[in-house]
Amino acid sequence: MTVCSKCIINDNYPGLTFNSKGECSICSSQKAFKPLGEDKLKEIFKNAVAKNCSYDALVPLSGGKDSTYILYLAAKVYKLKVLAMTYDNGFLSKTALENINRAIEITGVKHVFCKADAEVQKKVYRNMLLKSGDICGACDIATISHILKVAMDSKVPLILYGTSPLEEDSFIPDSIQDISRFKYILKDVKDLTKKEKDDYIILKNRNEWSLFLQKKLGKIGLEVRPLFYIDNPSDKEMGEIIMREMGWQEDSCKDFTKHFDCIAEPFTNYVRYKIYGYERHICQYSNMIRRNEITREKAIEMYNADCIEEKPSNYNEILHILNVTEAEMESVLRLKPLQFENHTSKMNKIFISFVKLKQKLHNK
Ligand SMILES: [Zn+2]
Repeated sequence: MTVCSKCIINDNYPGLTFNSKGECSICSSQKAFKPLGEDKLKEIFKNAVAKNCSYDALVPLSGGKDSTYILYLAAKVYKLKVLAMTYDNGFLSKTALENINRAIEITGVKHVFCKADAEVQKKVYRNMLLKSGDICGACDIATISHILKVAMDSKVPLILYGTSPLEEDSFIPDSIQDISRFKYILKDVKDLTKKEKDDYIILKNRNEWSLFLQKKLGKIGLEVRPLFYIDNPSDKEMGEIIMREMGWQEDSCKDFTKHFDCIAEPFTNYVRYKIYGYERHICQYSNMIRRNEITREKAIEMYNADCIEEKPSNYNEILHILNVTEAEMESVLRLKPLQFENHTSKMNKIFISFVKLKQKLHNK
């Protein structure tokens, strides 16, 4: 196994290459973040407010750090009329739920919960896990569909995502979410009807082309990532701001990476480690090294203390929820990684080729 000489990521991470200094392609392609400018962001907000709709912006809220910070910016700093929404993926943690409730109470914004049919949701996760070893992809597809559906139904001109330019690529590159792949994996599944699968996706005819067109025609609110426009506080400072202003709290259980809003996260991370040989703690610490928040030595020390090879404390609880046996799990942990990688839509294939070409040109 080759490990990057600068961060701690290894060559099990799909698509990673190393230069002559032993630095990984993520480290060597890292550029200093330059915000697009607060003036541009204010202009976008001004245009949305001028539309005089019931709401200026939709904020998807998971109760985690980034989305709570976006709600703080939208409601308290930029004083927008906000509609907040949460997609309950069936694994929402108690801490996240409490964070959501406090944030809504403090800001006084309107908030809606969206839920899939619990039984269908479980069947989707169970089948996705048994066949591909991944449930995060299916969750992400439903989350995005619900966000777009709420934005369309409530005619909200803006959707504000918490995606951060400093975020580690821990869910990428193998899980670029794709409806075609989702449908392909579940095509022969006996216990899910076509209607159940369509209902789970919500926007059943959703494909990248139709979404692109609807966005261009203004049928879907403009999707904006505010953290790409402004100088951001560090991760630590961001936490301090929302603790003070939004009553936000962090879950300190060591099983979790950043995504403590989902109780299945340590489980999915463990499965990822077993199947791929890398997981999100490595990505997260590597990113902290690149941002000069910790030294490489400190990252190795923290990573060793995480005991990634041990099952997380709620492992059996998650198996029980998913109705998966230990024996079935043994087969899951032996699955080959990336076996459905080619079953993606044309749009995603073009997108992936573009990213690869960009990386290749950069590394020359
Ligand atoms: Zn690296």
